[in-house]
Amino acid sequence: MTIAVTKLRVEDKLYQNRYLVDPGRPHIKVRPHERPSANLLALTHVCPAKCYELNDEGQVEITADGCMECGTCRVLCETSGEIEWNYPRGGFGVLFKFG
Ligand code: SF4
Repeated sequence: MTIAVTKLRVEDKLYQNRYLVDPGRPHIKVRPHERPSANLLALTHVCPAKCYELNDEGQVEITADGCMECGTCRVLCETSGEIEWNYPRGGFGVLFKFG
């Protein structure tokens, strides 16, 4: 008996999710800063949706579209006040597909 093994990459699974943008109302904001702290800078590497990027001035910016609401950035930077984190309004944000 042969068992078929299908290898799925995480990226392939994540591609199944959908995201409904709430125009003009991002649920996460980065507060203005001159230079990012180590934690804020780390978000450019640890966010699984790659929502955080460095701009040309060396500041961290976020594009919350695609956020999976994992909470990693909230744990790292909300208590320091570097980001403002809220859940998206009802009906917006990530739509997970299971199975
Ligand atoms: S909650 Fe998770 S996926 Fe969303 S921006 Fe923060 S780290 Fe990225």
